[in-house]
Amino acid sequence: MTHPERNEQLAENLAQVRQRIAAAAAGRPLPAPELIVVTKYFPASDVAALAGLGVADVGENRDQEASAKAAELEADPAAAGLRWHFIGQLQSNKAKSVVRYAHSVHSVDRLSLVKALSKAMAAEQERRAADGAGPRPDLQVLIQVDLENRPEHGEAGGSRRGGAAPVEIGRLADAVAEAPGLELGGLMAVAPLGADPAEAFARLMEYSAQLRRAYPHAAIVSAGMSQDLEAAVAAGATHLRVGSDVLGPRPRVM
Ligand SMILES: *Cc1c(COP(=O)(O)O)cnc(C)c1O
Repeated sequence: MTHPERNEQLAENLAQVRQRIAAAAAGRPLPAPELIVVTKYFPASDVAALAGLGVADVGENRDQEASAKAAELEADPAAAGLRWHFIGQLQSNKAKSVVRYAHSVHSVDRLSLVKALSKAMAAEQERRAADGAGPRPDLQVLIQVDLENRPEHGEAGGSRRGGAAPVEIGRLADAVAEAPGLELGGLMAVAPLGADPAEAFARLMEYSAQLRRAYPHAAIVSAGMSQDLEAAVAAGATHLRVGSDVLGPRPRVM
C-alpha cells in the first residue's frame, strides 16, 4: 500500500506535469502527446499508485528491476491495464525476459537486437500457447537515434547516450518491419547534454518525416524528459518520458 502522503505528492506532481504538457501543446495542430511516467529506481507501490491516478504508461530502463515490478503487480487489479515501456540500453540476452512484460521497446539501435527481440517473441508466443494463455500482441519497437551523431557536420558521433547513427535508421526500420512479432512504431531520442534541445528535436522530427515516407504508420516520436519536455512538445513529439518531475529526485542507491 502507498502511504497517503506519497499518494498525494504523486498526484500533485502528476497534475503539474500534465499542466505543463497542456500549456506547451496549446495551439499545436497535433493530438496531445502521450505521457509515459518513468518509474525507474522507485518501488512497485509507486507504480500502483500512479495507475490509480490514471497513468496508463510507465517506463523502465533495467530489465531486472522492471521484470520484478511487473511480476509484483501482476495480480494487482489497479495495475492490470498498464503498458510497460522499456527505454534503456538493452542487451540481446535480456530480450526473452523483456517480451514477457513490455508493450514497447524504445531503445532498439542495432540489427542484432532486432533479431533477438523477434526470436524472443516467437518463443513467448509458444510459451503462451503451451500455458493456454492468449497470444500477445506484437511488440512495439522504436528505433533510438543518437542525436550527437551528425553526419552532415562530418562528425563521427558520440553515442554517449545510446542510439543508432541517423544513417542507420532506414536499414533498421526495414529489419523491424520484416521481423515477425515486431511492429515498427517510430523513433526515440534523448537530447544531447549541454546542447539546445529544440535544435536536436527538430532534427529528430526530420528523421521521423523521412521514416514516415517509407512507413506512414511509424509515426511515434518519443522525446522529452523532465528538463526538456516543453521543447519536445513544441517540436512535435507524440510521446514524452518523464521521471523525476513526477516521482521526485532519484535515490542514489537502489
Ligand atoms: C530516466 C530516463 C528518462 C526520464 O528522465 P527524467 O529526467 O527523470 O524525467 C527519460 N528517458 C530515458 C531514456 C531515461 O533513461
